[in-house]
Amino acid sequence: MRIAYSEKFLEHENPPEVSGRLKAIVEHIEGSKLPVEFEAPKKIDGEELLLVHTKRLVEELKRRSETEDSLPENPFTKKTFEIAKLACGGALRAAEIADEDGFSFALVRPPGHHAGRDFYHGFCYMNNIAVAVRGNWSRKKTLIVDFDVHAGNGTIDIFEGDDSVFYLSLHQTVRALFPYDLRWEGRRANINSVGLAPGADDAEYLRIFRKALGEAVSSFKPERVAVSAGFDAYCEDGIASLKLDTETYNAIGKEIAKLGLQTFAVLEGGYYLPDLGKNVWSFISAFR
Ligand SMILES: [Zn+2]
Repeated sequence: MRIAYSEKFLEHENPPEVSGRLKAIVEHIEGSKLPVEFEAPKKIDGEELLLVHTKRLVEELKRRSETEDSLPENPFTKKTFEIAKLACGGALRAAEIADEDGFSFALVRPPGHHAGRDFYHGFCYMNNIAVAVRGNWSRKKTLIVDFDVHAGNGTIDIFEGDDSVFYLSLHQTVRALFPYDLRWEGRRANINSVGLAPGADDAEYLRIFRKALGEAVSSFKPERVAVSAGFDAYCEDGIASLKLDTETYNAIGKEIAKLGLQTFAVLEGGYYLPDLGKNVWSFISAFR
C-alpha cells in the first residue's frame, strides 16, 4: 500500500488541527508494522491550483504567508503557503498511485474541504481533493464521497454544476455545526449533502450512507471515486456529536471498495488523537 506523505506537513500548527494528528497516524502504522510505503507528494508549480481556486485567493495566501498575516481560524507563517500547496501535491500523488494500484491515501494537512473557489476557513487553505480531481482525473466521471463530520462547503462551491463530478456528503447538520449555513445542505443536481441530527449512531449512519451511495452510483455511474476522509464523526471526538465507532470506518471503506473503481482518499478532519491511527487504518484496510 503506497501512501502519500511528507514530514513537512508537521511544520504547521493550528490547534486543534495539530501536527500530532499525523504523528499519531504514522506511529500507528509504524508501530503495528503495517504494510505501507510512504511516497513524497507531487511537486506542483501553481498552475494546478488555478484549476480550482481564483488567482486572487492564491495570491492572498502567498502574501499572508510572506508577511505572516494571520486570521483567527487560519494562522500564517512563512511556511504556510508552501505546506498548503504540498498538501495539494499529496492528494495529486495519491490520485496518481490510485491510477496504478487501484487505491491510495493522502496523509496530508492542512485539510481542504472548507476551501472554495474564492474563500477558505475552518482550518483549510486550499482544497486538496479538488486540486487532485481536476488535476489528474478531469476527463473521468468522479464520485466524491465526504464522510468528515462537517459539510464540505468548499468542495460543493467548487463542483456544484460540474457534471463530471457528483458530491455525496454525510455530516452533522449545519443547523448544529460549522459551517452553520443551510446553503451547504440538501439534494440538488450533482450534490447530495445529507445533514444528520447530533447523536446519530453507527446503524443510522450506515443505513443512510448505503442508500445515498447506491442512489449516487446508479444515477451518476462514476468511473472513479475520491474520498474526503475525515475521522471527526468518531464517538470520542469532541468537535462534534456523531457517534461512529472504529468498525464503522471499515464498513464505509468496504461499501466504497465494493464498487470496484479506482479510488483515492485524502485526510480531512479527526481530532481524537488516541484512536486516530486505528480509525484511519480501519478505513484503509477495507481496500487491501
Ligand atoms: Zn471536520
